[in-house]
Amino acid sequence: MSTMMVAGNWKMNASTATTADLIDSLVAGAGQLSANVEMVVFPPLPYLAQAQQLLQHANIALGAQNVSDKAQGAYTGEVSAAMLKDFGVRYVLVGHSERRSLYGENDTLVAAKFQAVQAAGMVPVLCIGETLAQREQGATLSVVNGQVQAVIDALGVDALAAAVLAYEPVWAIGTGLTASPEQAQAVHQAIRAHVAAQNAVVAEGMQILYGGSVSGATAPELFAQADIDGGLVGGASLDAQSFLAIGQAAQS
Ligand code: PEP
Repeated sequence: MSTMMVAGNWKMNASTATTADLIDSLVAGAGQLSANVEMVVFPPLPYLAQAQQLLQHANIALGAQNVSDKAQGAYTGEVSAAMLKDFGVRYVLVGHSERRSLYGENDTLVAAKFQAVQAAGMVPVLCIGETLAQREQGATLSVVNGQVQAVIDALGVDALAAAVLAYEPVWAIGTGLTASPEQAQAVHQAIRAHVAAQNAVVAEGMQILYGGSVSGATAPELFAQADIDGGLVGGASLDAQSFLAIGQAAQS
């Protein structure tokens, strides 16, 4: 029975009312899912305390969408890994394509955030993916493997043993376009092979999620692929029934 993760990135969408509604519905539904599925929600930072409270007795983990690479001090507006940990956060997204493209986060900063998350005892979810132009140029594998390699070069391949990877083709995020199961599997397999060349045991144990307009309709075929270990879900994670349907698709 392979362990599957279904992670919901709410992005900048929430209020106290929607957080309560969504989490209440998820808690009610997640209890029915089989033990091989780990559900995780990533609310915006101001709602972490509320989410932590609501998830207290639930089988759903808490994640954060962003973190500072700095430990503490004069960094106005930043939130440290230790603060996230203090609110019960277990997973933190690093390298999401929106952070890379809209906020200029490069591989060096992504690796520093990855390290900060692990140093605080949490698990980074390293997001990687190519743009449409890069895919059309045939550069998909060099881009995604390069993004993974940047973390390996900075922290060593063993750092991936306590991390989750999320392959998210940029052209499929929030666009309604999904990579076909075969396209996604080919990239996941190539990422695993790239890591295996450096440490086969780490590569074997690595969870690689797929993200990009995943829905209840597309999830079953995607999750049936050998190297796809779950999904990172944006839009569909804002609707409890849609997100739970994706969770059901991950059951073995
Ligand atoms: C994401 O933001 O990680 C994502 C995959 O979004 P969506 O599911 O909306 O494409």
